[in-house]
Amino acid sequence: VPKRLIPASTVTSICGYCATGCQLKLHLDEHGRAINLTPQAGYPVNLGMACPKGWQALDPLDSPDRATTPLLRNEAGEKVPVGWAEAMEAFVTRFKDIKEKHGRESVAFLSTGQIPFEEMAFLGCLFKFGMGFIHGDANTRQCMATAATAYKQSFGFDAPPYSYADFEESDVIVLVGSNLCIAHPILWQRVMRNQRNPKIIVIDPRATETAQAATQHVNLKPKGDLALLYALAHCIVRDGRTDAESIRRTEGYDDFVAFLLDYSPAAVSDRTGLSVEEIEALARTVSEPGKRVSWWWTMGVNQSYEGVRAAQAMINLALITGNIGKPGTGANSITGQCNAMGSRLFSNTTSMVGGHEFAYEDHREKVATGLGIPLENIPSDSSLAYDQILAAAEEGKIKGLWIVATNPFHSWIDSGRLAAMREKLEFIVVQDMFHTTESALAADLVLPSAAWGEKDGCFINSERRIGTLKKVREAPGVALSDFRIFRLIARAWGCDELFGQWTDPEAAFRLLRDLTKDRPCDITGLEGYEMIDRLGGAQWPYPAANPPVDQERRLFEDGNYYTPSGKAKLLFSPPAELPENTDSAYPFMLLTGRGTSSQWHTQSRTAKSDILRKLYPQDAYIEIHPADAARLRLKENDMVTVRSRRGEMQASVYIAPTVQPGQLFLPMHYPEVNRLTHSSFDPHSRQPNYKACAVALAKS
Ligand code: SF4
Repeated sequence: VPKRLIPASTVTSICGYCATGCQLKLHLDEHGRAINLTPQAGYPVNLGMACPKGWQALDPLDSPDRATTPLLRNEAGEKVPVGWAEAMEAFVTRFKDIKEKHGRESVAFLSTGQIPFEEMAFLGCLFKFGMGFIHGDANTRQCMATAATAYKQSFGFDAPPYSYADFEESDVIVLVGSNLCIAHPILWQRVMRNQRNPKIIVIDPRATETAQAATQHVNLKPKGDLALLYALAHCIVRDGRTDAESIRRTEGYDDFVAFLLDYSPAAVSDRTGLSVEEIEALARTVSEPGKRVSWWWTMGVNQSYEGVRAAQAMINLALITGNIGKPGTGANSITGQCNAMGSRLFSNTTSMVGGHEFAYEDHREKVATGLGIPLENIPSDSSLAYDQILAAAEEGKIKGLWIVATNPFHSWIDSGRLAAMREKLEFIVVQDMFHTTESALAADLVLPSAAWGEKDGCFINSERRIGTLKKVREAPGVALSDFRIFRLIARAWGCDELFGQWTDPEAAFRLLRDLTKDRPCDITGLEGYEMIDRLGGAQWPYPAANPPVDQERRLFEDGNYYTPSGKAKLLFSPPAELPENTDSAYPFMLLTGRGTSSQWHTQSRTAKSDILRKLYPQDAYIEIHPADAARLRLKENDMVTVRSRRGEMQASVYIAPTVQPGQLFLPMHYPEVNRLTHSSFDPHSRQPNYKACAVALAKS
């Protein structure tokens, strides 16, 4: 072994990409600098495995595109390097000026699910309680707002009820809109460890890698999921395959049964594209007496104009069949980003922190007391959601934007609207590890931040497990951790005295931990980072009064939910029409989604890895069915123009029966893709509908 590869020591850290939350063992040289990594064998999440992104997690840290110094746009329109003092002066002067002229609703922040929750919480508290603004949201709105809203409405709190061990203990695993093989490859390995010979059913309009590997692919029409799920419930109720004890722990059952009368298999056959026999057979499979059935969903459900009701349709199925609160069961949302779950509890972006919502006076009082903030500094007004912030910017009501560790100029739906919005904004600050993202290029001020691996803190994964990340590199140039940048801003803004307790990430952790007391997410039993590492990560709740002994556990084993009545709510509404359907001018239905396990979102980090780049085409390609390709006389690798009512892009042709005739699939990793997508949103969660819009195709 070359000497440079022999570590002087090792330290563990949670991966900074997806919400699986794998633990990595970082190999350090004699100066404490990470030189290599391997997956951690004993960690209860990944059991010694990692996907390509995790293996190459150190690569982006060395990229020449790193932001190493603040950059400020001058009067000539060029961005020039400045020191932190000048950057802070510009930040404070410009945002205070906008606030003075236009009020506390005129500046907003857009943040991320990629930074530790100590930093997320600091950002929200600083912006709202210190700087005196109201509106801020995170890119978690694009990822799992639907799941969070569905759980909150049904269970009374945003509480995914499962552990990853449930993959291994289930008899029937139903994956809805989830390409687990490539989106969460380590969780697919957990499925493969199941020794119960499970049925693996994938409900998806595309024959994804997961659908091809499953025991059954239910190949329904795009957005036929909600009608199908109601039809399954219709059959189960009609045939008496329900669980009376579990139904006793719900509210609204009689209304639900009456609602389901309209959703017979025959009634939804056209909408779903499935035969009556297929639907009847599936209903029997997911309600087989004595079998453990688990429902799992990701972006195919969440990123929809009716995602909340689709998620709740799965929750309803789990509740009426007694598949909740037991091993191998559940209605289980798998989250996207490494700390999306942290964002759900602590981000302060959705007008809540530590399980306390600002809409309630007693919650505001607890936040004020817990954080030492004057009560009058805590706004009772709810923040606008992400799309509403951008709409307000388009209308000229929001004039300043602070973008932290996210890239909306690539990732936001119907991205052409952002170019127009940019013209209306007076000042954009982008705080990021790179100065070359689409959003950083649009900024007036770039604040260089440390990356994963260059700072400490905690992430929370999909199964509610808190894990620590460690500083194993120095940030380049004068880049600082987001935590340190927030401290600088607090001082420059003149509200530093409010945040005297936020001295470092672990001090912030303790503040936030204490704030969770008596909430469903109570983690008061966790002393600090060392204890979390010793436990192998800690799933919430972890209350001091009653610390759990079993870390592989699930919620609702006692049949008690977080609603005022203690019962789960059965919620439903009729399926809506597609926001944009195909027609003669735009005859193809475009699906978008993850294309590979080796790229992440907008590729801002993963494209910096030579190895990951080699695993995936760098130029856009589009999947088309062989029959459509023959009809349009298209050959493999032909260049085509894909056009929607909003924009167009070029892509090379990839002919595959993975899509149905009349459908196309584009991976989301290419910046042009969101020129095409359609601005429509779930009315409950405000999550964007990325998965279905009408396009036309022509040979270039
Ligand atoms: Fe694990 Fe996700 Fe990181 Fe891959 S990206 S190593 S699956 S946490």
